[in-house]
Amino acid sequence: MMRRPLALLLSLVLALPAPLPVLAFDLPDLGDVAASELSPAAERRIGEQIIREIRWRDAAYLDDPEVEEYVNRLGHRLAAVGNNASLDFDFFVVRDPSLNAFALPGGYIGVHTGLLLAAETESEFASVLGHEIAHVTQRHIAQIVGKQSQSAMLMMASLLVAVLAARSNSDVSQAAIAAGQAGAIQSQLGYTRAFEREADRVGLDTLDRAGLDVRGMPSFFERLQRSTRMYENNAPAYLRTHPLTTERIADMENRVASMPFRQVLDSDDFRYARAKLRASVGQPADAVRDLEDRVARDGRDDAALYGLARALLRAGRTADAADRLGSLRARAAPSPWIETLAAEISLARRDPSSAIRTLETAQQRFPASRSLAYALADAQIRGGQAAQAVAGVRRMIDTRSADPRLWQLLSRAQAELGQRTEQHRAQAEVYVLRGSLPAAIEQLEIARRAGDGDFYTLSAVDARLRELQQRLLEERRER
Ligand SMILES: [Zn+2]
Repeated sequence: MMRRPLALLLSLVLALPAPLPVLAFDLPDLGDVAASELSPAAERRIGEQIIREIRWRDAAYLDDPEVEEYVNRLGHRLAAVGNNASLDFDFFVVRDPSLNAFALPGGYIGVHTGLLLAAETESEFASVLGHEIAHVTQRHIAQIVGKQSQSAMLMMASLLVAVLAARSNSDVSQAAIAAGQAGAIQSQLGYTRAFEREADRVGLDTLDRAGLDVRGMPSFFERLQRSTRMYENNAPAYLRTHPLTTERIADMENRVASMPFRQVLDSDDFRYARAKLRASVGQPADAVRDLEDRVARDGRDDAALYGLARALLRAGRTADAADRLGSLRARAAPSPWIETLAAEISLARRDPSSAIRTLETAQQRFPASRSLAYALADAQIRGGQAAQAVAGVRRMIDTRSADPRLWQLLSRAQAELGQRTEQHRAQAEVYVLRGSLPAAIEQLEIARRAGDGDFYTLSAVDARLRELQQRLLEERRER
C-alpha cells in the first residue's frame, strides 16, 4: 500500500520549512502500484481527488464558467490532435498572478490566471497547454510515480504540495513548493530533462496540427527564461517544475525554423477572457483605470471596451457600464461574452425580464455555449421563471449528469418553487459530485422528510439513498 508512506512523505515535505498551516488532505488510495508505472485508473483517481479539493475547497479556484469554457475549448482543440486523442482532459483555472500551469495525474490541467495574462498571443498560451498535454499523453507522471518508490513519492508529494499551495499564496507555502520540488527535481534530473524535451517536441507538433503559430512556443519560453534572469530568486513558478534550459529553447527554435510560417490571429474568446480577468483583479477602481487606459491606447480594441464595461459594473457604476456596452454592441462581432455581460447589467438594474430576453436570443445564436445556458437558468430563477429554469436545466442534465453547476441550478430553481423534496434531491447530487457522500445522504434524508414528494419521487429518493449508503460502506471498507 502506497497510501501511508505517501501521507508520511507529504507530512515530511510539509515539515521541511518553517511551521506550516495544517493542510488536511485526504490522500487517495493508490491501489496496487506494483507495476512499473501508475495505472491509468489509479492516475485518474488521484487526479479526481486533487481536483475536488481544488474545486470545492480552494479559494483560488476560478469559478468562472466562461473562462473555464474557453480554456477547455482551446485545450480540447489541442488534445484532439495530440498523441492520444482518446484520453480525457479537464482544464481549470486558478486565480494566481504567478506564471504557472501544471498537469495533475489523470488529465487534469490547471492554468494560473497570471499565465493567461502574460501570454502575448493565443499561440503562446496554447504552447504551454500543448506542453502540459504532452506530459499527460506521454504518461510522464505515471512513469515518475512508478519508477522508484522514494523519489517517485517525493515527486508526487511535491506535486500535491504545489497544488495545495495554490490556495494560499503565503511565503510559507511557496517555500514548501520550492523545497519539495527542488528535492524532487534534483533527485531525478536525468529523466526530467528527457521528459521536458519530449513534452516540447510533442507539444510543438500538437500546436502545429491544431493550426496555431508554432513560433509562439520558443517566444513564450524565451520570455519566461528572461524573466528568470531578471528576478533571480523569484523565477516563474512554472520553471521550478519544468526546468528550462538554453538547450531546450535552441531545440524548439531549430524545429520551428523548418516549419512553414503561419500567421494566426488571436480568437475573440482569448481576448475577452483576458479582459474579463483584468476587470476582476485588484480594487474595482484600479481595474476601471487600467481598462480605461487600454481603451485610450487603442480605441478599436473591443476586448478592452468589454473589460471596461465589466470593471464599471463591478465598481457599481451600472449606468456607465451599460453605456460602454451599448458602444461595444454597436460595433463588435456578436459574442456570447457580450450577451452574458448585458444580462448581468440588466440583473444589476433589477430587470431580470430583460436579462432573460437577452439570454434567450443569445442562446438561439450560440446554442453550444454552456455559460449562456447557466446564465439563462440563473436569470430565470431570479426573474420569477423558475419553472422554465427547471425544464431547461433538466434537459441539459439528461446529457450532462456529471455537471455540478447544473444540479446546483436545479436545486435553486426548485427551492424557488417551494418543491422541497426535489430541491434536496438535487442538492444531494451536488454533494455526490463533490465527493461528499455523507452530505449527500443527509440531503436525501431531508428530502424524504420534506413531505411534498409523490410516491414516484419518494421511491426514487429511497433507491438513491440505498445506493449511496452502499457506496459509502464500500468506500469505508477500502480504507
Ligand atoms: Zn514540462
